[in-house]
Amino acid sequence: MTEMKDINALFAECEASLKEQFAALDAREERLTARVLDLFADEQVALRHFNPTNGYGYDDQGRDTLERIYAKLFKTEAAIVRPQIASGTHALSMCLFGLLRPGDHLLSATEKPYDTMDEVIGIAGDAPGSLKEMGVTFSCVPMTETGIDVPAVLAAIRPETRVILTQRSRGYALRPTVAPEDMAPLFKAVKAVRPDIFLMVDNCYGEFVCDEEPLVYGADVMAGSLIKNIGGGLAPTGGYIAGREEAIHRVESRLTAPGIGREVGSYAGSYRPFYQGLFMAPHTVHEAMKVSLLTAAVFEHLGMKTVPASDAKRADIIQAIQMETPERMVAYCQAIQAASPVDSNAVPEPWDMPGYQDQVIMAAGTFVAGASIELSADGPMRAPYVVYQQGGLTYAHGKIALKRAVERLVTE
Ligand SMILES: *Cc1c(COP(=O)(O)O)cnc(C)c1O
Repeated sequence: MTEMKDINALFAECEASLKEQFAALDAREERLTARVLDLFADEQVALRHFNPTNGYGYDDQGRDTLERIYAKLFKTEAAIVRPQIASGTHALSMCLFGLLRPGDHLLSATEKPYDTMDEVIGIAGDAPGSLKEMGVTFSCVPMTETGIDVPAVLAAIRPETRVILTQRSRGYALRPTVAPEDMAPLFKAVKAVRPDIFLMVDNCYGEFVCDEEPLVYGADVMAGSLIKNIGGGLAPTGGYIAGREEAIHRVESRLTAPGIGREVGSYAGSYRPFYQGLFMAPHTVHEAMKVSLLTAAVFEHLGMKTVPASDAKRADIIQAIQMETPERMVAYCQAIQAASPVDSNAVPEPWDMPGYQDQVIMAAGTFVAGASIELSADGPMRAPYVVYQQGGLTYAHGKIALKRAVERLVTE
Protein backbone atom coordinates (compact mmCIF):
# COMPACT_ATOMS: atom_id res chain seq x y z
CA MET A 1 0.00 0.00 0.00
CA THR A 2 1.19 3.46 -0.84
CA GLU A 3 1.22 6.41 1.54
CA MET A 4 -2.17 7.98 1.98
CA LYS A 5 -3.06 11.62 1.69
CA ASP A 6 -5.80 13.06 3.86
CA ILE A 7 -8.58 10.47 3.84
CA ASN A 8 -11.40 12.93 3.19
CA ALA A 9 -9.54 14.39 0.25
CA LEU A 10 -8.91 10.90 -1.09
CA PHE A 11 -12.60 9.97 -0.88
CA ALA A 12 -13.69 13.25 -2.47
CA GLU A 13 -11.28 12.71 -5.33
CA CYS A 14 -12.51 9.14 -5.85
CA GLU A 15 -16.16 10.20 -5.81
CA ALA A 16 -15.43 12.92 -8.37
CA SER A 17 -13.77 10.37 -10.65
CA LEU A 18 -16.92 8.19 -10.50
CA LYS A 19 -19.43 10.90 -11.34
CA GLU A 20 -20.33 9.61 -14.79
CA GLN A 21 -20.61 6.02 -13.63
CA PHE A 22 -22.88 7.03 -10.77
CA ALA A 23 -25.12 8.92 -13.22
CA ALA A 24 -25.40 5.80 -15.39
CA LEU A 25 -26.35 3.78 -12.32
CA ASP A 26 -29.06 6.30 -11.41
CA ALA A 27 -30.51 6.00 -14.90
CA ARG A 28 -30.66 2.22 -14.74
CA GLU A 29 -32.19 2.30 -11.26
CA GLU A 30 -34.98 4.42 -12.68
CA ARG A 31 -35.59 2.08 -15.65
CA LEU A 32 -35.72 -0.99 -13.42
CA THR A 33 -37.89 0.68 -10.79
CA ALA A 34 -40.38 1.60 -13.52
CA ARG A 35 -40.44 -2.00 -14.69
CA VAL A 36 -41.15 -3.36 -11.20
CA LEU A 37 -43.74 -0.66 -10.55
CA ASP A 38 -45.60 -1.49 -13.76
CA LEU A 39 -45.62 -5.20 -12.92
CA PHE A 40 -47.13 -4.48 -9.51
CA ALA A 41 -49.86 -2.48 -11.25
CA ASP A 42 -50.33 -5.24 -13.83
CA GLU A 43 -50.94 -7.80 -11.10
CA GLN A 44 -52.99 -5.31 -9.05
CA VAL A 45 -50.94 -5.91 -5.94
CA ALA A 46 -53.00 -5.05 -2.87
CA LEU A 47 -52.73 -5.40 0.90
CA ARG A 48 -54.43 -8.80 0.80
CA HIS A 49 -51.45 -10.25 -1.04
CA PHE A 50 -49.32 -9.70 2.05
CA ASN A 51 -51.52 -11.80 4.34
CA PRO A 52 -50.07 -14.89 6.00
CA THR A 53 -51.46 -18.29 5.06
CA ASN A 54 -51.34 -21.67 6.72
CA GLY A 55 -51.87 -25.36 6.07
CA TYR A 56 -51.33 -26.65 2.54
CA GLY A 57 -51.53 -23.20 1.04
CA TYR A 58 -53.67 -24.10 -1.96
CA ASP A 59 -54.48 -20.98 -3.98
CA ASP A 60 -52.23 -18.83 -1.82
CA GLN A 61 -52.69 -15.50 -3.60
CA GLY A 62 -49.71 -13.75 -2.08
CA ARG A 63 -47.43 -16.57 -3.16
CA ASP A 64 -48.90 -17.11 -6.63
CA THR A 65 -48.98 -13.40 -7.48
CA LEU A 66 -45.39 -12.91 -6.35
CA GLU A 67 -44.31 -15.84 -8.53
CA ARG A 68 -46.12 -14.39 -11.56
CA ILE A 69 -44.41 -11.04 -10.99
CA TYR A 70 -40.99 -12.71 -10.89
CA ALA A 71 -41.72 -14.66 -14.08
CA LYS A 72 -42.82 -11.49 -15.90
CA LEU A 73 -39.88 -9.51 -14.55
CA PHE A 74 -37.48 -12.11 -15.92
CA LYS A 75 -39.47 -12.34 -19.19
CA THR A 76 -39.92 -16.06 -18.77
CA GLU A 77 -42.70 -18.62 -18.32
CA ALA A 78 -42.65 -19.59 -14.66
CA ALA A 79 -41.04 -18.93 -11.30
CA ILE A 80 -40.84 -20.50 -7.87
CA VAL A 81 -40.30 -17.87 -5.16
CA ARG A 82 -40.43 -19.31 -1.67
CA PRO A 83 -39.45 -18.59 1.91
CA GLN A 84 -39.05 -22.37 2.25
CA ILE A 85 -36.00 -22.28 -0.01
CA ALA A 86 -33.35 -21.92 2.69
CA SER A 87 -30.56 -20.34 0.64
CA GLY A 88 -29.06 -19.86 -2.80
CA THR A 89 -27.32 -23.22 -2.53
CA HIS A 90 -30.66 -24.86 -1.78
CA ALA A 91 -32.26 -23.27 -4.85
CA LEU A 92 -29.35 -24.36 -7.07
CA SER A 93 -29.38 -27.86 -5.60
CA MET A 94 -33.11 -28.17 -6.30
CA CYS A 95 -32.48 -27.22 -9.92
CA LEU A 96 -29.71 -29.77 -10.37
CA PHE A 97 -31.62 -32.61 -8.70
CA GLY A 98 -34.73 -31.69 -10.66
CA LEU A 99 -33.02 -31.59 -14.04
CA LEU A 100 -30.46 -34.41 -13.75
CA ARG A 101 -31.04 -38.18 -13.71
CA PRO A 102 -28.70 -41.12 -12.97
CA GLY A 103 -26.21 -41.52 -15.81
CA ASP A 104 -26.44 -37.85 -16.80
CA HIS A 105 -23.46 -35.52 -17.05
CA LEU A 106 -23.30 -32.01 -15.57
CA LEU A 107 -20.94 -29.62 -17.34
CA SER A 108 -19.82 -26.30 -15.86
CA ALA A 109 -18.96 -23.67 -18.48
CA THR A 110 -17.46 -21.35 -15.86
CA GLU A 111 -14.77 -23.43 -14.15
CA LYS A 112 -15.43 -24.89 -10.73
CA PRO A 113 -18.80 -23.78 -9.32
CA TYR A 114 -19.19 -21.85 -6.07
CA ASP A 115 -17.67 -23.52 -3.01
CA THR A 116 -20.94 -24.67 -1.43
CA MET A 117 -21.79 -26.60 -4.61
CA ASP A 118 -18.82 -28.95 -4.09
CA GLU A 119 -20.73 -31.21 -1.71
CA VAL A 120 -23.93 -30.99 -3.75
CA ILE A 121 -22.05 -32.22 -6.81
CA GLY A 122 -19.91 -34.64 -4.77
CA ILE A 123 -16.47 -33.29 -5.65
CA ALA A 124 -15.69 -32.65 -1.97
CA GLY A 125 -16.89 -33.80 1.43
CA ASP A 126 -18.91 -36.90 2.11
CA ALA A 127 -22.46 -35.60 2.60
CA PRO A 128 -24.93 -38.36 1.70
CA GLY A 129 -27.16 -37.87 -1.33
CA SER A 130 -24.81 -35.90 -3.57
CA LEU A 131 -25.26 -35.90 -7.35
CA LYS A 132 -22.23 -38.18 -7.56
CA GLU A 133 -23.86 -40.73 -5.26
CA MET A 134 -26.93 -40.56 -7.51
CA GLY A 135 -24.79 -41.48 -10.53
CA VAL A 136 -24.37 -38.03 -12.08
CA THR A 137 -20.92 -37.24 -13.48
CA PHE A 138 -19.39 -33.79 -13.55
CA SER A 139 -16.71 -31.87 -15.41
CA CYS A 140 -15.83 -28.22 -15.87
CA VAL A 141 -14.17 -26.11 -18.54
CA PRO A 142 -11.52 -23.43 -17.85
CA MET A 143 -12.39 -19.87 -18.90
CA THR A 144 -10.29 -17.55 -20.99
CA GLU A 145 -9.12 -14.19 -19.65
CA THR A 146 -12.20 -12.53 -21.07
CA GLY A 147 -14.91 -15.08 -20.36
CA ILE A 148 -16.48 -18.36 -21.43
CA ASP A 149 -14.45 -20.51 -23.86
CA VAL A 150 -17.33 -21.50 -26.14
CA PRO A 151 -15.40 -23.92 -28.41
CA ALA A 152 -13.96 -25.68 -25.34
CA VAL A 153 -17.42 -26.05 -23.79
CA LEU A 154 -18.82 -27.47 -27.04
CA ALA A 155 -15.91 -29.92 -27.19
CA ALA A 156 -16.60 -31.03 -23.60
CA ILE A 157 -20.24 -31.95 -24.30
CA ARG A 158 -20.86 -35.70 -24.05
CA PRO A 159 -23.84 -37.67 -25.36
CA GLU A 160 -25.10 -37.91 -21.75
CA THR A 161 -24.64 -34.19 -20.96
CA ARG A 162 -27.97 -32.94 -19.66
CA VAL A 163 -27.20 -29.64 -17.91
CA ILE A 164 -24.68 -26.92 -18.68
CA LEU A 165 -24.20 -24.68 -15.67
CA THR A 166 -23.05 -21.09 -16.07
CA GLN A 167 -22.20 -19.13 -12.95
CA ARG A 168 -22.55 -15.40 -13.44
CA SER A 169 -20.69 -14.17 -10.37
CA ARG A 170 -17.10 -15.16 -9.63
CA GLY A 171 -17.71 -16.59 -6.17
CA TYR A 172 -14.43 -16.98 -4.31
CA ALA A 173 -12.39 -17.07 -7.52
CA LEU A 174 -10.68 -14.32 -9.45
CA ARG A 175 -12.02 -15.35 -12.86
CA PRO A 176 -14.13 -12.89 -14.88
CA THR A 177 -17.78 -12.26 -14.07
CA VAL A 178 -20.07 -13.17 -16.96
CA ALA A 179 -22.62 -10.57 -17.98
CA PRO A 180 -25.97 -11.95 -19.17
CA GLU A 181 -25.47 -10.77 -22.76
CA ASP A 182 -22.05 -12.42 -22.82
CA MET A 183 -23.71 -15.79 -22.14
CA ALA A 184 -25.68 -15.53 -25.39
CA PRO A 185 -22.99 -16.96 -27.74
CA LEU A 186 -22.67 -20.08 -25.57
CA PHE A 187 -26.43 -20.54 -25.29
CA LYS A 188 -26.91 -20.13 -29.02
CA ALA A 189 -24.09 -22.53 -29.90
CA VAL A 190 -25.33 -25.23 -27.52
CA LYS A 191 -28.96 -24.96 -28.65
CA ALA A 192 -27.82 -25.32 -32.27
CA VAL A 193 -26.22 -28.70 -31.64
CA ARG A 194 -28.02 -30.03 -28.57
CA PRO A 195 -31.43 -28.49 -27.94
CA ASP A 196 -32.11 -31.20 -25.33
CA ILE A 197 -29.51 -29.78 -22.91
CA PHE A 198 -30.81 -27.56 -20.10
CA LEU A 199 -28.93 -24.27 -19.84
CA MET A 200 -28.86 -23.35 -16.17
CA VAL A 201 -27.51 -20.15 -14.60
CA ASP A 202 -26.39 -19.49 -11.05
CA ASN A 203 -27.58 -15.88 -10.96
CA CYS A 204 -26.56 -15.13 -7.34
CA TYR A 205 -25.53 -11.48 -6.84
CA GLY A 206 -26.54 -10.59 -10.40
CA GLU A 207 -30.15 -9.40 -10.27
CA PHE A 208 -30.73 -5.79 -11.34
CA VAL A 209 -27.05 -5.12 -12.05
CA CYS A 210 -27.83 -5.20 -15.79
CA ASP A 211 -31.00 -4.28 -17.64
CA GLU A 212 -31.82 -7.88 -18.56
CA GLU A 213 -31.26 -11.23 -16.84
CA PRO A 214 -29.77 -14.39 -18.46
CA LEU A 215 -33.18 -15.92 -19.33
CA VAL A 216 -33.61 -13.20 -21.95
CA TYR A 217 -30.44 -14.41 -23.66
CA GLY A 218 -31.49 -18.03 -23.93
CA ALA A 219 -30.98 -19.68 -20.53
CA ASP A 220 -33.64 -22.26 -19.63
CA VAL A 221 -33.55 -21.81 -15.88
CA MET A 222 -31.81 -19.65 -13.29
CA ALA A 223 -31.72 -19.47 -9.52
CA GLY A 224 -30.74 -17.06 -6.78
CA SER A 225 -31.09 -16.08 -3.16
CA LEU A 226 -33.61 -13.64 -1.69
CA ILE A 227 -31.16 -12.44 0.96
CA LYS A 228 -28.97 -11.14 -1.84
CA ASN A 229 -29.94 -8.60 -4.51
CA ILE A 230 -33.55 -9.30 -5.30
CA GLY A 231 -34.81 -9.40 -1.73
CA GLY A 232 -33.89 -5.72 -1.56
CA GLY A 233 -32.57 -6.11 1.98
CA LEU A 234 -36.08 -6.74 3.30
CA ALA A 235 -36.83 -10.38 2.42
CA PRO A 236 -36.10 -12.31 5.62
CA THR A 237 -35.14 -15.57 3.89
CA GLY A 238 -35.85 -17.53 0.71
CA GLY A 239 -34.76 -18.26 -2.81
CA TYR A 240 -36.13 -18.22 -6.33
CA ILE A 241 -35.95 -20.37 -9.45
CA ALA A 242 -37.26 -19.01 -12.76
CA GLY A 243 -37.33 -20.24 -16.29
CA ARG A 244 -39.11 -22.20 -18.97
CA GLU A 245 -42.11 -24.23 -17.82
CA GLU A 246 -40.47 -27.49 -18.91
CA ALA A 247 -37.54 -26.88 -16.56
CA ILE A 248 -39.60 -25.47 -13.69
CA HIS A 249 -41.96 -28.45 -13.91
CA ARG A 250 -39.03 -30.81 -13.30
CA VAL A 251 -37.64 -28.69 -10.49
CA GLU A 252 -40.95 -28.32 -8.63
CA SER A 253 -40.89 -32.04 -7.86
CA ARG A 254 -37.83 -31.31 -5.72
CA LEU A 255 -39.47 -28.29 -4.06
CA THR A 256 -42.10 -30.45 -2.40
CA ALA A 257 -42.92 -33.89 -3.84
CA PRO A 258 -43.53 -35.27 -7.33
CA GLY A 259 -47.18 -34.70 -8.19
CA ILE A 260 -47.60 -31.93 -5.63
CA GLY A 261 -44.99 -29.53 -6.94
CA ARG A 262 -45.58 -25.82 -6.43
CA GLU A 263 -49.34 -26.09 -5.78
CA VAL A 264 -48.68 -26.20 -2.04
CA GLY A 265 -46.65 -24.25 0.48
CA SER A 266 -48.07 -21.75 2.95
CA TYR A 267 -46.29 -19.02 4.86
CA ALA A 268 -47.43 -18.00 8.33
CA GLY A 269 -45.34 -14.84 8.17
CA SER A 270 -46.30 -11.88 6.02
CA TYR A 271 -45.44 -11.78 2.32
CA ARG A 272 -45.05 -8.00 2.60
CA PRO A 273 -41.22 -8.04 2.95
CA PHE A 274 -40.93 -10.08 -0.26
CA TYR A 275 -43.04 -7.60 -2.23
CA GLN A 276 -41.57 -4.53 -0.60
CA GLY A 277 -38.08 -6.00 -0.95
CA LEU A 278 -38.61 -6.55 -4.67
CA PHE A 279 -39.89 -2.99 -5.00
CA MET A 280 -36.81 -1.68 -3.16
CA ALA A 281 -34.32 -3.95 -4.90
CA PRO A 282 -33.45 -1.74 -7.91
CA HIS A 283 -32.57 1.03 -5.46
CA THR A 284 -30.75 -1.17 -2.95
CA VAL A 285 -28.70 -2.90 -5.65
CA HIS A 286 -27.62 0.44 -7.08
CA GLU A 287 -26.62 1.76 -3.67
CA ALA A 288 -24.53 -1.40 -3.27
CA MET A 289 -23.02 -0.89 -6.74
CA LYS A 290 -21.92 2.61 -5.77
CA VAL A 291 -20.26 1.27 -2.62
CA SER A 292 -18.41 -1.31 -4.74
CA LEU A 293 -17.24 1.30 -7.22
CA LEU A 294 -16.03 3.61 -4.47
CA THR A 295 -14.21 0.70 -2.81
CA ALA A 296 -12.43 -0.12 -6.07
CA ALA A 297 -11.46 3.49 -6.70
CA VAL A 298 -10.10 4.00 -3.17
CA PHE A 299 -8.00 0.83 -3.16
CA GLU A 300 -6.66 1.59 -6.63
CA HIS A 301 -5.49 4.96 -5.33
CA LEU A 302 -3.69 3.06 -2.59
CA GLY A 303 -1.93 0.93 -5.19
CA MET A 304 -3.77 -2.33 -4.54
CA LYS A 305 -5.25 -4.80 -7.01
CA THR A 306 -9.03 -4.75 -7.33
CA VAL A 307 -11.30 -7.04 -9.35
CA PRO A 308 -13.16 -5.64 -11.17
CA ALA A 309 -11.22 -2.41 -11.59
CA SER A 310 -13.21 0.77 -10.99
CA ASP A 311 -13.54 1.42 -14.74
CA ALA A 312 -14.40 -2.16 -15.77
CA LYS A 313 -17.77 -3.49 -16.91
CA ARG A 314 -19.74 -5.03 -14.03
CA ALA A 315 -22.29 -7.83 -13.93
CA ASP A 316 -22.62 -8.44 -10.19
CA ILE A 317 -22.32 -6.48 -6.95
CA ILE A 318 -19.07 -8.07 -5.76
CA GLN A 319 -15.88 -6.09 -5.25
CA ALA A 320 -12.75 -8.15 -4.70
CA ILE A 321 -9.67 -6.58 -3.13
CA GLN A 322 -6.40 -8.44 -3.10
CA MET A 323 -5.04 -7.96 0.43
CA GLU A 324 -1.85 -10.05 -0.05
CA THR A 325 -1.53 -10.92 3.65
CA PRO A 326 -3.85 -12.77 6.06
CA GLU A 327 -3.33 -10.00 8.65
CA ARG A 328 -4.71 -7.33 6.30
CA MET A 329 -7.61 -9.53 5.30
CA VAL A 330 -8.60 -10.11 8.93
CA ALA A 331 -8.10 -6.45 9.87
CA TYR A 332 -10.28 -5.24 7.00
CA CYS A 333 -13.11 -7.64 7.78
CA GLN A 334 -12.96 -6.75 11.47
CA ALA A 335 -13.17 -3.05 10.63
CA ILE A 336 -16.19 -3.57 8.37
CA GLN A 337 -17.87 -5.54 11.16
CA ALA A 338 -17.12 -2.77 13.67
CA ALA A 339 -18.80 -0.28 11.33
CA SER A 340 -21.98 -2.37 11.05
CA PRO A 341 -25.37 -1.44 12.51
CA VAL A 342 -25.80 -4.87 14.15
CA ASP A 343 -23.23 -6.87 16.17
CA SER A 344 -20.65 -4.11 15.84
CA ASN A 345 -18.94 -5.47 18.93
CA ALA A 346 -18.42 -8.92 17.40
CA VAL A 347 -14.89 -9.62 16.15
CA PRO A 348 -14.88 -11.94 13.13
CA GLU A 349 -12.20 -14.65 13.00
CA PRO A 350 -11.50 -17.28 10.34
CA TRP A 351 -13.53 -20.47 11.00
CA ASP A 352 -14.48 -23.82 9.48
CA MET A 353 -17.77 -22.88 7.89
CA PRO A 354 -20.07 -25.72 6.73
CA GLY A 355 -19.92 -26.24 2.97
CA TYR A 356 -16.50 -24.59 2.53
CA GLN A 357 -13.16 -26.40 2.25
CA ASP A 358 -10.87 -23.55 3.45
CA GLN A 359 -11.36 -21.53 6.60
CA VAL A 360 -13.55 -18.52 5.88
CA ILE A 361 -13.68 -15.12 7.53
CA MET A 362 -16.96 -13.29 7.33
CA ALA A 363 -17.98 -9.79 8.39
CA ALA A 364 -21.75 -9.40 8.31
CA GLY A 365 -23.27 -7.10 10.89
CA THR A 366 -26.65 -7.41 9.24
CA PHE A 367 -30.32 -7.07 10.18
CA VAL A 368 -31.09 -10.30 8.29
CA ALA A 369 -28.57 -12.92 9.44
CA GLY A 370 -25.93 -13.45 6.76
CA ALA A 371 -27.69 -11.25 4.19
CA SER A 372 -25.03 -10.19 1.74
CA ILE A 373 -27.06 -7.44 0.09
CA GLU A 374 -26.26 -5.70 3.37
CA LEU A 375 -22.65 -4.53 3.64
CA SER A 376 -20.51 -7.60 4.16
CA ALA A 377 -16.96 -8.70 3.49
CA ASP A 378 -15.67 -12.23 3.44
CA GLY A 379 -13.33 -14.68 1.82
CA PRO A 380 -11.52 -17.98 2.20
CA MET A 381 -8.18 -17.81 4.01
CA ARG A 382 -5.96 -18.72 1.09
CA ALA A 383 -3.38 -16.80 -0.97
CA PRO A 384 -3.57 -14.12 -2.38
CA TYR A 385 -5.90 -13.27 0.53
CA VAL A 386 -8.73 -11.72 -1.37
CA VAL A 387 -11.57 -9.99 0.45
CA TYR A 388 -14.88 -10.16 -1.39
CA GLN A 389 -17.00 -7.23 -0.37
CA GLN A 390 -20.59 -6.72 -1.36
CA GLY A 391 -23.77 -4.94 -0.43
CA GLY A 392 -24.64 -1.82 1.44
CA LEU A 393 -28.25 -0.87 2.10
CA THR A 394 -27.28 2.77 1.78
CA TYR A 395 -24.35 4.39 0.04
CA ALA A 396 -23.70 6.59 3.08
CA HIS A 397 -23.22 3.55 5.30
CA GLY A 398 -20.92 1.86 2.80
CA LYS A 399 -18.81 4.98 2.50
CA ILE A 400 -18.49 5.45 6.26
CA ALA A 401 -17.53 1.80 6.81
CA LEU A 402 -15.02 1.89 3.95
CA LYS A 403 -13.43 5.04 5.31
CA ARG A 404 -13.00 3.53 8.77
CA ALA A 405 -11.65 0.26 7.38
CA VAL A 406 -9.11 2.01 5.19
CA GLU A 407 -8.00 4.16 8.14
CA ARG A 408 -7.47 1.02 10.18
CA LEU A 409 -5.47 -0.71 7.45
CA VAL A 410 -3.24 2.30 7.09
CA THR A 411 -2.58 2.73 10.84
CA GLU A 412 -1.81 -0.98 11.31
C1 LIG B 1 -24.00 -16.79 -2.53
C2 LIG B 1 -23.77 -17.65 -3.70
C3 LIG B 1 -24.21 -18.97 -3.75
C4 LIG B 1 -24.83 -19.67 -2.60
O1 LIG B 1 -25.75 -18.96 -1.94
P1 LIG B 1 -26.08 -19.18 -0.38
O2 LIG B 1 -27.31 -18.41 -0.27
O3 LIG B 1 -24.95 -18.62 0.40
O4 LIG B 1 -26.28 -20.63 -0.18
C5 LIG B 1 -24.01 -19.68 -4.91
N1 LIG B 1 -23.37 -19.14 -5.95
C6 LIG B 1 -22.90 -17.89 -5.93
C7 LIG B 1 -22.19 -17.35 -7.13
C8 LIG B 1 -23.09 -17.11 -4.81
O5 LIG B 1 -22.63 -15.86 -4.79
